[in-house]
Amino acid sequence: MREAAVIGKPISHSLSPSIFGFISHRLGLSDFDYRAHEVDPADLKTFIDLFHKNPNGVGFNVTIPHKEKIFDLLNEISPEAKLIGAVNVVHLTNNELRGYNTDVYGVLQTFKKHSVVVRDRNALLIGAGGAARAVAYALGSENAANVTILTPNLSRAKSLISEFQPHFKQTKFQVAADWSQLDPVEWSLIAQSTPLGMSSQPMTRDGVSALDYFSGLNQLKLSQKAWAFDLIYRPEWTPFLEQGRQCGLVPIGGLDMLIEQALETWRIWFGERPSVELSDYLRHRPIFLTGFMGAGKSTIGPLLARKLGWNFVEIDHAIESEAGLSIRELFKTKGEPFFRDLERKIIARFAFEPRSIISLGGGSLTHPQTRELLAKIGRLVFLTADLDTLDKRLKLNSTKRPLLAGLTDAQRRQKIESLLKEREAFYNQASFRLDTASMTAQQAAERIREKFL
Ligand code: NAP
Repeated sequence: MREAAVIGKPISHSLSPSIFGFISHRLGLSDFDYRAHEVDPADLKTFIDLFHKNPNGVGFNVTIPHKEKIFDLLNEISPEAKLIGAVNVVHLTNNELRGYNTDVYGVLQTFKKHSVVVRDRNALLIGAGGAARAVAYALGSENAANVTILTPNLSRAKSLISEFQPHFKQTKFQVAADWSQLDPVEWSLIAQSTPLGMSSQPMTRDGVSALDYFSGLNQLKLSQKAWAFDLIYRPEWTPFLEQGRQCGLVPIGGLDMLIEQALETWRIWFGERPSVELSDYLRHRPIFLTGFMGAGKSTIGPLLARKLGWNFVEIDHAIESEAGLSIRELFKTKGEPFFRDLERKIIARFAFEPRSIISLGGGSLTHPQTRELLAKIGRLVFLTADLDTLDKRLKLNSTKRPLLAGLTDAQRRQKIESLLKEREAFYNQASFRLDTASMTAQQAAERIREKFL
């Protein structure tokens, strides 16, 4: 087994387990395990010492808040990671931990893919944080004539400039606090490296909406072909890209950079860039529906799939057709452990298929490996309802449910209550909880669509 990971805090929203799970699945590697570890800053050294000694360890990705603090704990750091001041990939090789920054590569590959030319031209860089430093490095190494950093945080921009300027002699770095201070030159690239425009950051700190702030693009003189590059990848279409498009700039979102930095991570670890199509998968990752029987999975699932034009997969049906037996017969003849293992294998088969709505059986999360797999992929919706609603719904067809068949009304209610208690902690692993008791199936499907797409 070869082991890799991503560490950070928080870590539950990281796309890395999904990305590296997809790559290894597509390459058919059954001996590669990639996990997310929530690591507190106080435990960073312990994690690194353990990983260093791990005979199966390949490397790990690093995210907030460890990208800078990890420097002192590594044996070697690449020149670009040193100048950028952040490590996002560690490779364990020859008993040494080597740190890299693959964001620069992600930016350069994005330029290449979209034929962005910055050599001897002027680039405007909005923001001066960690990602801005990777863009500044890429622009310097491409010999841009002038890189102007637009940010009200002048001290952050000035320290970036004092560190970068000596390394990139062909490029003049400067700072502007607002749009009105920009030189009246012709711009070829505007790169946006702040979180402004993500759903969590709709406004600047002065309360200006993202769309209004980026309307500053209207004042710029642009070269004949010029690009608007937003590093944000979620959402894919941002207020910055919208304003850029209206000004005639060619829009480029952040997804290519995200993908390219991940492919470069793989190359560092295994020596070869994997040939896989990640963008379709990341745009249309499967959505899993979990919850107790009667919570609405088989009604809401097909409606959602139809709305999106995606496939609907009911895992219980897939198991029945694979085994040639009904779920009830499988439970009776082979027992629950056999059933759960088969269920896990079938879920894994669909987990890396884009454009799928997957309805899980009510007890599937009781299997630890199924829980692990779903935690990697994310997009798990917990459909729920109160006990009275579930009991009412299940009374109608309890004979079809092996766990409820043959019970009296009182026994069934008691069984539902005890199973719910038993499974609650597993269901709560879902990233989105939706109570279906007081809404129609159409409304529930729409809520899920809004949440993820
Ligand atoms: P960071 O180090 O925290 O820097 C954020 C920058 O944005 C700083 O200049 C900050 O200003 C500014 N800022 C923060 N909130 C703002 C707001 N509401 N309005 C205007 N400016 C604001 O973050 P980062 O690591 O550079 O990441 C920035 C963005 O890049 C994130 O959206 C991240 O998802 C994206 N990113 C994408 C990729 C990719 O692969 N596509 C890779 C890395 C990052 P102050 O200096 O005043 O705090």
